[in-house]
Amino acid sequence: MGLIDTEERIAKACKDAGRPRSDVQLIAVSKVQPLDRVEAVLEQGHRLFGENKVQEAAGKWPDFRSRFDDVTVHLIGPLQSNKTRQAMELFEAIHSVDRPKLANSLARLAQEMGQCPDLFIQVNTGEEPQKAGVMPKDADQFIKDCIAMDLPIKGVMCIPPADETPSLHFALLAKIAGRNGLSGLSMGMSGDFDQAIAFGATHVRVGSAVFGERTYGTEQS
Ligand SMILES: *Cc1c(COP(=O)(O)O)cnc(C)c1O
Repeated sequence: MGLIDTEERIAKACKDAGRPRSDVQLIAVSKVQPLDRVEAVLEQGHRLFGENKVQEAAGKWPDFRSRFDDVTVHLIGPLQSNKTRQAMELFEAIHSVDRPKLANSLARLAQEMGQCPDLFIQVNTGEEPQKAGVMPKDADQFIKDCIAMDLPIKGVMCIPPADETPSLHFALLAKIAGRNGLSGLSMGMSGDFDQAIAFGATHVRVGSAVFGERTYGTEQS
């Protein structure tokens, strides 16, 4: 556990997959972690973080950004349309673009603000009714529609079902990215990021392996 162990696991997975380490970005998922743990990882020199809630990120990152240079924060959780502007102001990337209404709102605000975070389309690879993301069969059209709106789509993202072999989902996501000419693959969490890297992950989202277990009971995803 910890940043250094996680970095070692990533380096090994890259080596085993014959990929350069620079292909893979570690998003340290800091949601609900005590601030002293987050600060310790900043002190170790890490600069890329992930949050799954707009409100929570708004409460901690402005202060950390004022104290540490070059911090980058990605939104990896669901985004309500009425929080689009706030999310665009807070995050360098949004991994959860999953429906036309949100895409429209991002496109309108990008026009107005003259800038837009990097975007990933979330794909519900397990076709789970309770989970966010476009269905795999709708992904190609949705990606095309987003690109036609001039949105900066960098890749695709998935959260595999907890009770299934993640590699099937990673392979499906990689296929969707490939046939749509997208290079970004946001996949892999603490339990399975080694496999995700073998399947081409460019962004692994790792929480508990970096920071330790989250000590709370209300998390949704
Ligand atoms: C919490 C979360 C993670 C990190 O999960 P760990 O198992 O702690 O690594 C990754 N992705 C998303 C979307 C999350 O909400």
